[in-house]
Amino acid sequence: ASTFKGKRVALFGLGGSGLATARSLMAGGADVVAWDDNPDSIAKAGGEGIHTEDLRYIDWRAVHSFVLSPGVPLTHPKPHWSVGLARAEGVEIIGDVEIFVRERRAHAPDCPFIAITGTNGKSTTTALIAHILGVSGRDTQLGGNIGRAVLTLDPPKSGRFFVVECSSYQIDLAPTLDPTAGILLNLTPDHLDRHGTMQHYADVKERLVAGSGRAVVGVDDSYCERIADRIERAGSPVTRVSKRQPLVHGLYAEGSRIIEASNGATREIVDLAGSQTLRGSHNAQNAAAAIAACMAVGVSVEEVRAGLASFPGLKHRMQPVGRRGHVTFVNDSKATNADAAAPALSSYDRIYWILGGLPKEGGIASLEPLFPNVAKAYLIGEAASVFAATLGDAVAYEISGTLTHALEHAAKDAAADPLPSTVLLSPACASFDQYRNFEVRGDAFVANVAALSGITMLVD
Ligand code: ADP
Repeated sequence: ASTFKGKRVALFGLGGSGLATARSLMAGGADVVAWDDNPDSIAKAGGEGIHTEDLRYIDWRAVHSFVLSPGVPLTHPKPHWSVGLARAEGVEIIGDVEIFVRERRAHAPDCPFIAITGTNGKSTTTALIAHILGVSGRDTQLGGNIGRAVLTLDPPKSGRFFVVECSSYQIDLAPTLDPTAGILLNLTPDHLDRHGTMQHYADVKERLVAGSGRAVVGVDDSYCERIADRIERAGSPVTRVSKRQPLVHGLYAEGSRIIEASNGATREIVDLAGSQTLRGSHNAQNAAAAIAACMAVGVSVEEVRAGLASFPGLKHRMQPVGRRGHVTFVNDSKATNADAAAPALSSYDRIYWILGGLPKEGGIASLEPLFPNVAKAYLIGEAASVFAATLGDAVAYEISGTLTHALEHAAKDAAADPLPSTVLLSPACASFDQYRNFEVRGDAFVANVAALSGITMLVD
């Protein structure tokens, strides 16, 4: 990163992305001084030739910029001590995404850069855009909040496309974020632990789209609706996206069809009815936003269609993993609470539903309106008895105990069902009573599915 050449940059946090940032700054000729709260991380960085020094004792007046790694509190509940030191001397505080945008502006300002944020659907939308671009043959780099840290990607150059997922934290630390196209999918109360109030959270997310060459905004919630209006009033181009209402101008879903409207004239871009990986109205929102951003950077409708049709989906998120006869097996292990399980439960009917684990507050009561989609539930882990009480007489269930038993029974019951059905792992729980994390739980499900006789796997 040569935009910091000859400048003194302090850096706190020496995990993976912090190390990558230090390397990149040093390669560009910056004078880096780095620190961490963890002695092991400091030792590792020192071993790599990174200059480490306790930032409490450096001369902050000589520091040009302070780079903070993800995970180091900037604001809520309490800023990290290093933030106070930088602020006291008026040193700018930035993150790796800001370094990336400065590099891009300095060296390849015309290289297309799509940034994505929102409360839900970020990773799906990011992966989908990168897939559409990649399938169309474009040189595509994906990173940020998913996958690789931005400074480990190939550097910006003309004709190279960047697709970067941004958390609120990363936006907070990127004061000059200026993507070619920026997406704000939706805003619902979440992550307030870190951002204090919903309004602050919304303000941070707004900055990503407000700074974009084209703002793509999901207008199905009131925060985002107001943001779209404000950006338009400020004179910047906006594409509105809706999963539930026709728009005069923008992209919206009508059932499984994505329609583009321009001054009231409409055309169908794609029908997602046959898609296994983009089911449900939430995915219509993700797909419509992805389409809008891709078209904003010059992708043709045909290329968009080809990418949508071949999108493999993301692991552990409503991911179809196997098929046997008319039964589809779906891994939605990422659904670690009731809200996250709702999209899957509303996207299928005749569900043989495997759920449970370590229950969260509120349990699954909020999912009651979706119980009619469930043919039978298979309860695992610590949540079993609590969930059994909620299911009550509304849903047939058994207490299976383990995932292995649950799958065995669900697969057998689904096979006996004369109608097409889905065996779904969407636990609505954390995994920690039985698994290290949701990925390990999802992998265990996939391994069990792969062991079923007569199964056709849809994943490797
Ligand atoms: P994020 O990266 O924002 O956490 P993901 O794309 O990983 O989002 O999706 C996580 C889960 O959130 C999905 O399994 C699904 O249940 C739900 N989800 C995905 N997209 C949306 C959306 N547009 N609106 C609401 N919920 C969504």
